[in-house]
Amino acid sequence: MMYCRSCGKPLHESAPFCPQCGYSFAAPTLPATPAAPSGSLWMAITALTLSILALLILLSTAGDMDTLSKLSELESAFGGHSLKRKLAESAADSAVGGLVLALPGGIFGVISLAQKRGGRGMAIAAVVISAINLLLILGLFGLAQ
Ligand SMILES: [Zn+2]
Repeated sequence: MMYCRSCGKPLHESAPFCPQCGYSFAAPTLPATPAAPSGSLWMAITALTLSILALLILLSTAGDMDTLSKLSELESAFGGHSLKRKLAESAADSAVGGLVLALPGGIFGVISLAQKRGGRGMAIAAVVISAINLLLILGLFGLAQ
């Protein structure tokens, strides 16, 4: 048996409120998580845009690198190495270019997720794409050696 904290009448333990005085025992309901202000969507959008741009640049250069790599193997069979140098230079260029876009893209994505800003789906996509970008960039830096 418990007693009403407000009026002191005996109550059933599971009663959500006092039938005598109406005093409520239910835990105060937590306010619903406020919807993310639309102004904070920009971070997820920026993250996704940057990482997609980086991915497009990296993918388009990956094709060139593949061709250049095959040609330079052929060239080295004949004792030349100017294509190999060209390959290393353009691989380094695109790796740096990709990194400039992919890095802020990934960072914005992570911050956006960590701060529970709007556009969670976009932020997750940005982080996933950034991880792919990073692998491509590492591959390019490998070619640049
Ligand atoms: Zn009461």
